Amino acid sequence: MVELFPKDVRSQPGLDRLTGLPDRGECLSRLISTLAQHHGRDDAVSVFWLNVDRFRQINNSFGHIVGDSVLIELARRLERAKPDGSVLARMGADEFVLIASCVGADDAEHIGRNLLTAIGQALGVGTRRVRPSASIGIALVGSEDSASELLERADRAMLEAKREGGGRCSLVNPQAVQAHGSKHLAREELSVEEMLHRALETGGLYLEYQPIVRAEDRSILAVESLMRCRVGDGVIPPGRFIPVAEKTGLIMHLGDWGLVTAGGFVRRLAQQGQHLKVAVNVSRAQLQTTSFTKSLHGMLAYTGIEAAQMELEITESLFMDASTVVQDNLRAAMEAGVSLALDDFGTGFSSLACLKDLPAHKIKLDRAFVVGLPNDRRAFSVAKAVAQLASDLGITVVAEGVETAEQYESLCEAGVTAIQGFHVAHPMGEAQLLNWLSTLNHD
Ligand code: C2E
Ligand code: CA
Ligand code: CA
Repeated sequence: MVELFPKDVRSQPGLDRLTGLPDRGECLSRLISTLAQHHGRDDAVSVFWLNVDRFRQINNSFGHIVGDSVLIELARRLERAKPDGSVLARMGADEFVLIASCVGADDAEHIGRNLLTAIGQALGVGTRRVRPSASIGIALVGSEDSASELLERADRAMLEAKREGGGRCSLVNPQAVQAHGSKHLAREELSVEEMLHRALETGGLYLEYQPIVRAEDRSILAVESLMRCRVGDGVIPPGRFIPVAEKTGLIMHLGDWGLVTAGGFVRRLAQQGQHLKVAVNVSRAQLQTTSFTKSLHGMLAYTGIEAAQMELEITESLFMDASTVVQDNLRAAMEAGVSLALDDFGTGFSSLACLKDLPAHKIKLDRAFVVGLPNDRRAFSVAKAVAQLASDLGITVVAEGVETAEQYESLCEAGVTAIQGFHVAHPMGEAQLLNWLSTLNHD
């Protein structure tokens, strides 16, 4: 592959060492001066933020030297395809920015398509031929835009293009005001998304199980499966990766995987003579698709477990969701014999009165009502009222996040049916849980 510029040029300040293109800092200063020149003129400035799709895979499969030569080749293609008088810069890694003057959205999209075509030509990588692709975000200048605002908007649009599958352009107009800090959030999301993909590829996804015990005698009632994502030496908590998975659609993958894995665990236990119920958390995005019922039926058929050994944990607002898809999915689950638990009860807006209309078999009293016990008498009253009403309706109440013996006692006094929390047991891996169950059986 041909290098863009001779080496002596590439070591100049303001130029990227690999490609010889203007670097990040130089890009920003050129954009500032372009905006100043265009001020008050009719022709608009547009900024194209380009990110190579799946570049990490090329780097991982062929090594960094090949990865570098791919970047040099792509830079060369972009340089050839860009309009006369425009500025192409490398922002770092596999990201490029083009600053061009153009008259409007159509014009900008035309330029974007040309860049994508240039990038998409087949390319020899090692012994293989690959067709690279890229995601491009386009921002058109608004009258009050600063250089960094324009770059942020283009970057954000690029993430949008990537989210839609890559190999495309996405354009934002000046009216699309972004919330403060949204760029940072988008970046964080993209990195979590990348980690999730990596975990899916490398088997880094796993479940932990946390016991739920009967309040009266601490015998096991069920376990809740909690998803974990290991990347390298670290573990990303579900509070961070579930929302990203929901946004990007990856949750379908994760959700199906979670159902089958939890079901498989229940089957293995049953084969050893232990009959346990597992509760699986289900997110909004899952329940809002018609394929959820298929996944649930598929899991039951595949694992061969009894439907009664599976429970779905669903938040209040989802239970209340009036959409036909959600309601159909809930009904289908119940008809199959799978029970439903209302998760995080008390954190939503529903009142106690709603309980009588909900098809829940179990409600999980949120940790917010547990943390202040035994001293918080108001929380105690709520726990007691919920327990009383649920008992009248034939619904089981589980108190979540129980950390101390005092909380445990107070909840027993309030009349809750079951307890879950670090005081009883932390979430644990399969082998550890089997151990824990065996100590329970010997007590
Ligand atoms: P959640 O469903 O309310 O799960 C209970 C959370 O409380 C878990 O956090 C659990 O580790 C934690 N916990 C349990 N006992 C105690 C305690 O005594 N004290 C305290 N402070 N915390 C306790 P985790 O595992 O980080 O999960 C957080 C949330 O992520 C879950 O909240 C659930 O909404 C979601 N999640 C976890 N796994 C899945 C999954 O497989 N699918 C979906 N859709 N969501 C999941
Ligand atoms: Ca839960
Ligand atoms: Ca909960």
